[in-house]
Amino acid sequence: MKNKSLISEAKKLANKKELTSDVTVGHVGCALETKSGKIYSGLSVGTSANLGFCAEICAMAQMIKEGETEILEIIATEPDGKLITPCGRCREFMFQINRNNLKTKILLSDNKYITLEELLPHRWQDYWSKNRS
Ligand SMILES: [Zn+2]
Repeated sequence: MKNKSLISEAKKLANKKELTSDVTVGHVGCALETKSGKIYSGLSVGTSANLGFCAEICAMAQMIKEGETEILEIIATEPDGKLITPCGRCREFMFQINRNNLKTKILLSDNKYITLEELLPHRWQDYWSKNRS
């Protein structure tokens, strides 16, 4: 794993800047490593009336643009360097783009990881399938 370079990439983008009176970017920075070993990164975009998106979505969009969907490790940080886990929407998105992402490692603190499966243990798709068959 390249967690030191992921942390430094994420920290570079966690740099809060006001773009307009409605838009602030960089509340969160994110970096992820894919199965191919490439690193993608992104930053959060916060807007009035909730038109923005998470840093994780920004990084995953970069990855998807390159034809990749499988994430080995993902890291997100706030401007003060505090690590944070993906929000519920990002957890669901990671799962939907590639079921193998249940094994994705998410850094909680120095050398302490949690998997997406641990963060998303009772997936609605499991119940949906059972109820429809
Ligand atoms: Zn999110």
